[in-house]
Amino acid sequence: MSDELAKAYDPREVEPRWSRFWEENGFFTADPRSGKRPFAIVIPPPNVTGSLHIGHAFTLTLQDVIVRWKRMSGHDVLWLPGLDHAGIATQTVVEKQLAKEGKRKEDLGREAFLARVWEWKETSGGAILKQLRLMGFSLDWTRERFTLDAMLSRAVREVFVSLFEQGLIYRGSYIVNWCPRCVTALSDLEVETEEEGGSLWHIRYPEVGGGPGIVVATTRPETLLGDTAVAVHPDDERYRHLVGKSLVLPVLGREIPVVADPFVDREFGTGAVKITPAHDLHDFLAAQRLGLPAINVMDERGVLNQSAGPYAGRDRFLARDAIVTQLSHEGLLVNTVPHRVPLGHCQRCHTVVEPRLSLQWFVKTKPLAEPAIAAVEDGRIAFVPESWAKTYFEWMNNIRDWCISRQLWWGHRIPAWTCRGCSELLVAREEPAACPRCGGRELAQESDVLDTWFSSALFPFSTLGWPDRTADLARYYPNDVMMTGFDIIFFWVARMIMMGMRFADDVPFRTVFINGLVRDEKGEKMSKTRGNDVDPLDLIARHGTDSLRFTLAALAAPNTDPSLGEARLLGYKAFVNKLWNASRFLLLNLSGERAARYEFSSLPVASRWILTRAQEVAERVDSALGGFRFDLAAHEIYHFLWDEVCDWYIEIAKTLLARPEEAPRARAVLLEVLGTSLRLLHPMMPFVTEEIWQRLPHEGPSIMVAAFPRPDASKTDPAAVAEMQRLQRIVTELRTIRATYEVEPKRRIDVTMAAPAAPDRAFATGHAELIRSLARVERLEVVSEATDAPRTVKHPVEAFELRIPMAGLFDIAAEKSRLDRERRKLEDELTGLRARLGNPQFVERAKTEVVRESRERVAELTTRRERIEATLRELGSDSVA
Ligand SMILES: [Zn+2]
Ligand SMILES: [Zn+2]
Repeated sequence: MSDELAKAYDPREVEPRWSRFWEENGFFTADPRSGKRPFAIVIPPPNVTGSLHIGHAFTLTLQDVIVRWKRMSGHDVLWLPGLDHAGIATQTVVEKQLAKEGKRKEDLGREAFLARVWEWKETSGGAILKQLRLMGFSLDWTRERFTLDAMLSRAVREVFVSLFEQGLIYRGSYIVNWCPRCVTALSDLEVETEEEGGSLWHIRYPEVGGGPGIVVATTRPETLLGDTAVAVHPDDERYRHLVGKSLVLPVLGREIPVVADPFVDREFGTGAVKITPAHDLHDFLAAQRLGLPAINVMDERGVLNQSAGPYAGRDRFLARDAIVTQLSHEGLLVNTVPHRVPLGHCQRCHTVVEPRLSLQWFVKTKPLAEPAIAAVEDGRIAFVPESWAKTYFEWMNNIRDWCISRQLWWGHRIPAWTCRGCSELLVAREEPAACPRCGGRELAQESDVLDTWFSSALFPFSTLGWPDRTADLARYYPNDVMMTGFDIIFFWVARMIMMGMRFADDVPFRTVFINGLVRDEKGEKMSKTRGNDVDPLDLIARHGTDSLRFTLAALAAPNTDPSLGEARLLGYKAFVNKLWNASRFLLLNLSGERAARYEFSSLPVASRWILTRAQEVAERVDSALGGFRFDLAAHEIYHFLWDEVCDWYIEIAKTLLARPEEAPRARAVLLEVLGTSLRLLHPMMPFVTEEIWQRLPHEGPSIMVAAFPRPDASKTDPAAVAEMQRLQRIVTELRTIRATYEVEPKRRIDVTMAAPAAPDRAFATGHAELIRSLARVERLEVVSEATDAPRTVKHPVEAFELRIPMAGLFDIAAEKSRLDRERRKLEDELTGLRARLGNPQFVERAKTEVVRESRERVAELTTRRERIEATLRELGSDSVA
């Protein structure tokens, strides 16, 4: 490899080269025998159907920063990758493929369909993993897992059977959220509730034998077909005479009782509610209390069934309209009121969810939640930022049993069998050969599969070989940290804690870091429909991975949703190029030689300053990363490299390099500062730092296994920092003067620095060479007292008065005539205004406001004229009267 860097940095050429190099050399692979302290973290496994979006890019960049930093800090790091089989999502993909061939999954049968899904998985699934490699994520690919592979499936079965044996898994009739499109139960978390416009229909249920009966209000009139009672409050005077009597159910004419239940809210609506146990959770619970039957009037696709009488075979929403029409014709529709209703939608397909009575499998979560709550309460697990713990507690303290069965084919099939002979239910780790009760050999396996989150809940230990006591499990469990988005604290984080504590005898991780949600530059949520979403692969193609990674890290402030804008990204792309150019400068000046030795205390002040600053920055970046303050770490290193190294030290080094006796030590310091900066930057910008590092004199095969910089106290000199800051203020002042007078960059100016105290003068004299080169000064004079001279700019800074002859700054004659023209213009306007104000008619007729404004204008113009005249006097104008 040549020592020289290309003129411009080309990420497309550089990145794939290093990705391959790192992986092929095994730098991503954890090594349990290394003797180093382990550091373990698992990836939130992306869906096998997924492709990289900005959310992945964000959270995984932060994870890779931590992982690379820990690895460089001497840990044996395991960052374990994996894929989630994603039940509904994957099954839907293959179902759509089949639909194009005019087939349904039932045409193939379960086994052939699953073979087809596996085939899809092998050829098209997991495309996202290639994209993760593209971003340089240092995942241990030798330990890649899939939630449906043999190792993880065995863990799933072990946990399921154990929970069943411990009485924590049960099967029961329950009202579940049901998606009639996906034909499956959904957990509460898979339902998105939105408020929508609807109606509240008031319907009369007449008394048997002819009384007016009771009016009830409902937002779902079609469910009245499944009513088995009307409930009123026991103390409600309006209905007391009807309790125990019967009403005629409209449409069907069935007789249903009026029951009393203290849970009825007398104030709401008519104070009477219809009870539909098979189609509403509250009604279901009331029916259990009151011993009422449940009548299911709908099938699994939301079509009314035989119990719906004349409406059997109709879709639920069409039936609703027809029933309202019929009620209206029969005079039973008392009133229709517009009403906003919170409606649940299937998270996956957005179909309106139907509460449905069905036989499902549940995990009893209370006994699992208690130790999981305690672990966060007593600090065994810490949330970062801490505020997320509150969210966790709120949910965990109100946890409901977890419906874990899904009516899908793709997933972990529930290990339960029913004996056809005696109906015995068998739950077992291995498929039983015969029924232990009757000896029957005809056993039918449960057709449902488990909720995908059931297997991902085991991810921190199932991936390490549990239930076997493997070496990996002993070494890498508990994980050190879990880093993920807030949207899956309940879906995933909470369940990992519950399962880990129950089955792996410890918390699954010690720290939970929760990152924000990437928004667009205006702070809006990104979405495809709004068209403001960005494709990370597109950003990478245009700007390089390092720019994107650094931007995402710099935006990761606690309790903040990062706003990702192109401008910010371009700013950091410029930073990558700045680093590149600075490195090129150094390499061109290095001419192949090794770094010289130097004694710190005898270095020039600027070199002691930059080395001291390098120690401070190393200390701050390290502690920022320790506190997950990616934003601060990025900020520190950015300003150090750009403002201090590039803007100051490299400029200063140019003068040092010009002196043969100083040049070798200057090169050594430059090399050291650049080397430190590269290592500090590496976790955020892995590619460009490796490309440069490989060309510098270095030890070891790669920067990613080089040591992360530790502050070195022997290279710290606070006095040098103070001295340099003083010098910087003087030079900055001179640069400001140059800018104010628009002095051409190549023009050199003459400066006199006056200070009464001898030490100050010694300071100026000692740094004369630097001041001259940094502020482009021709002649620098240091005096105790400045003699007054005309046509001079005077500026105080520090203990000095700076004096610069104007003749050196600009063309005096041209400036004088410009000022003179301006003075005459002011004079004309003033004359006009004074004439108007001197006219009594104007002052009388004009509005007081106008008069006041005119007077103010006169005052303003007068001041301006005086200022111009003063400058003209200073310039030695002959034209000032
Ligand atoms: Zn759905
Ligand atoms: Zn049996």
